[in-house]
Amino acid sequence: MLLSPSPTGTLTLTPSPAPTLTPPPGHRDDGGGGLGLLLILAAFVYVIGYAISVQLHPLRTCRTCDGTGLNRGGIFTSSMRVCRRCGGTRREPRPGARNLGRRDR
Ligand SMILES: [Zn+2]
Repeated sequence: MLLSPSPTGTLTLTPSPAPTLTPPPGHRDDGGGGLGLLLILAAFVYVIGYAISVQLHPLRTCRTCDGTGLNRGGIFTSSMRVCRRCGGTRREPRPGARNLGRRDR
């Protein structure tokens, strides 16, 4: 004997449990979360290493004059001037280096 729900005359609005599209809790963002954590950890290690390196070596070669301390003219290549960026010192502070460690007055 089949128990088929026969349509009755009166339409009853029973709140049927609609199939929700929510995923089961947990076990969802496992791989992505681990990779993101690894990237954050790598960035953290890089930042710490860079901070230590900047403390040890706060200067780098001036990129404007490429370590020559001079800027040559574009047209008259024999003309030159002192590099404005490094002031002829041929070096510049690395990004992140603060007050270059020492203040000589
Ligand atoms: Zn320079």
